[in-house]
Amino acid sequence: MQRPYNFSAGPAAIPEEVLQRAAAEMLDWQGSGMGVMEMSHRGKEFLSIYEAAEAGFRSLLSIPPEFKILFMQGGGLAENAIVPLNLSRAAGVDFVVTGSWSQKSQKEARKYASEVNIAASGETSSFTTLPDPASWTPSVGASYLHICSNETINGVEFHELPDLRALGCDAPLVVDFSSHVASRPVDWSRVGLAFGGAQKNIGPAGLTIVVVREDLIGQALPACPSAFDYRLVADNHSMYNTPPTWGIYMAGLTFDWLARQTEGEAHGIAAMEQRNIAKAALLYGTIDGSQLYYNKVSPPCRSRMNVPFFLRNEALNDAFLAGARERGLLQLKGHKSVGGMRASIYNAMPLAGVQALVDYLHDFEKAHG
Ligand code: PMP
Repeated sequence: MQRPYNFSAGPAAIPEEVLQRAAAEMLDWQGSGMGVMEMSHRGKEFLSIYEAAEAGFRSLLSIPPEFKILFMQGGGLAENAIVPLNLSRAAGVDFVVTGSWSQKSQKEARKYASEVNIAASGETSSFTTLPDPASWTPSVGASYLHICSNETINGVEFHELPDLRALGCDAPLVVDFSSHVASRPVDWSRVGLAFGGAQKNIGPAGLTIVVVREDLIGQALPACPSAFDYRLVADNHSMYNTPPTWGIYMAGLTFDWLARQTEGEAHGIAAMEQRNIAKAALLYGTIDGSQLYYNKVSPPCRSRMNVPFFLRNEALNDAFLAGARERGLLQLKGHKSVGGMRASIYNAMPLAGVQALVDYLHDFEKAHG
């Protein structure tokens, strides 16, 4: 039986193969007599799961050895506090505000940093474009510069990470990649720290992944909770406190699935990137070619993962969503702060799912346009 296509922004669809494997191992993980949720995080069974997940993520995203991978809890919002607690040294920090999530991040940082400088903002365009890095005004001596590389609500994405050194800025780049982690390769030479919740592209909610360059660890403010001090987390291999064991297991299964994906000659993340480009092109092309639907984001800044769109006749919104549900196209309602619709097309969404949505968009427009 074919499952419906789930366009949720997160928690979001998980590859069916991953769910099936987890179901098959639910009561007895590989002959251990225990399900993964029942295992001690310090036992040899879970340690092997943890090591495979970490190695899988490192290899998938080609993370260099000078970066630590931390499996934490608290989600992206907790990292908005944990990052300044660890990296700000109570000095000034810079933010580039490109939508709701970076806006939230800079507000939270004000509790911990002596000064927050907005180095650039897309607010004047209502976050439909990204400010060109050449126009950014980073401050001198900032502890870091924070960006959200994919704004889940506004639907804007940096298709390339900024090269801060080329802008004359030597602050490390902090990247919130919550909503497009593992959808494309990462140029780690430009990154100091990247963080993201797992619940969009990687697995269930409850796991937060932090990738941090070794030299940035060990400067936490005295008030930083021990469980959130990157030094303690790193030195204890993410087991200073009990880690989100189920999330780590599911992430490992997803990394394994991702590594096996191919598109022509490409495999792993390169294949996912190609597939994600094709999916986004199909959906945006349909929206742009229609009289009924529209997307407000400037084409070069459009997210490949989160596609917000609107019906010119908003009175049709409920009928649109009801018809979509009937066709097995779930969770297309837009975020409450912006309204309209949003299709999130993360890694687990196949091209066939986007094609099914596009077919529905055409049919609905024919019936109501
Ligand atoms: N950053 C981004 C880009 C997000 O999309 C989200 C969640 N939608 C968050 C941060 C917050 O994550 P969490 O709810 O896991 O704290």
